[in-house]
Amino acid sequence: MKGLAMLEIGEIGWIEKERPTYGPRDAIVKPLALAPCTSDVHTVWEGAIGERHDLILGHEALGVVDEVGSEVRDFKPGDRVIVPAITPDWETEAAQRGYPSQTGGPLGGWKFSNFKDGVFGEFFHVNLADYNLAHLPEGMSLEAGVMLPDMLSTGFMGAENAKIEFGASVAVLGIGPVGLSAIAGAKLRGAGRIFAVGTRPAAVNVAKEYGATDIINYKEGDTAEQIRNKTGGAGVDAVIIAGGGPDILMDAIRAARPGSVISNINYFGQGMGDEDTIPLPRVAWGFGMADKNIMTGLCPGGRVRMERLAEVVMHGRMDPSLMATHVFKGFDKLEEALLLMKEKPRDLIKPVVIV
Ligand code: NDP
Ligand code: ZN
Repeated sequence: MKGLAMLEIGEIGWIEKERPTYGPRDAIVKPLALAPCTSDVHTVWEGAIGERHDLILGHEALGVVDEVGSEVRDFKPGDRVIVPAITPDWETEAAQRGYPSQTGGPLGGWKFSNFKDGVFGEFFHVNLADYNLAHLPEGMSLEAGVMLPDMLSTGFMGAENAKIEFGASVAVLGIGPVGLSAIAGAKLRGAGRIFAVGTRPAAVNVAKEYGATDIINYKEGDTAEQIRNKTGGAGVDAVIIAGGGPDILMDAIRAARPGSVISNINYFGQGMGDEDTIPLPRVAWGFGMADKNIMTGLCPGGRVRMERLAEVVMHGRMDPSLMATHVFKGFDKLEEALLLMKEKPRDLIKPVVIV
């Protein structure tokens, strides 16, 4: 079978691989709709998680079940499914402690395009099908559905971790598809004022649609200062980080008031050594004592998460298809879509490939 792979750091290409095999509780799925992620860009072109050879990329998919193991109960060949980006081993100790995305070590629930072939192949393997697949609801568009596995799950987690109370002020740093989903999540969690930080016009429009009340252009001045000026000097109750470089925590902590949460969902690129560090503003952080609490998380995966996100969409709480700005037709277009994600033209939010 054919797949679009990371050949080595900085290089992608089409490769031929054996069709994956499967165990009694697993499934083999064919893609129906796929989307590249900024994380694929960090992984390939920044080498953010180290070297990988001939690893099929991609972790955002809707699919059709092709084969299932003998013990799979709820899915059969032909079923249309949502495939979460994160497919934990649900019987592990980390899952029982409430951190399924971290099974088998840090980020261990992230298998596709991390340490196992991803979804950019003609077929891909899903472990524990009954726990890691969800039925695609009748009537959900492919453009909307393909945002669930990662964009909505990650963005909403950003809002969940930010512990937003009714009427709380929130700043979302970065309004790509992840930050936009965080804005929608913050609104659904009851935020009052929502600052959206970014510049791409298409994203600014969707940010307003999803609930942003103020747009901050980080290129026109210091982000934290702009937010503090608009809040009478106070800063916000929660900051969700969904973009920016290694020093973005400097802005986040300076924009946050004492007694706040800084909820990071950004994937910080480059460097695999202990010497690779990220700066924090010592004074603005109250020398470490200002109750400005940093939360982190990897996208939640699994079946129930996907089913619940689908409920949000099917009952009209938000429309994720607004983020699908570039829709390609055909598996062969995957490379073009991924390169577009790397280039990030000004009119892009998210490319989607309908297979
Ligand atoms: P995009 O590249 O599409 O969006 C990044 C956003 O950050 C843009 O709006 C950009 O602004 C903005 N930005 C850039 N520099 C700054 C700055 N200095 N201050 C404020 N904003 C800035 O990314 P995605 O939305 O696709 O992904 C966001 C991050 O989430 C990535 O790092 C990705 O890898 C990560 N991720 C993490 C996951 C997890 O499980 N935790 C899962 C999926 C993704 P502009 O409008 O000017 O372009
Ligand atoms: Zn991703």
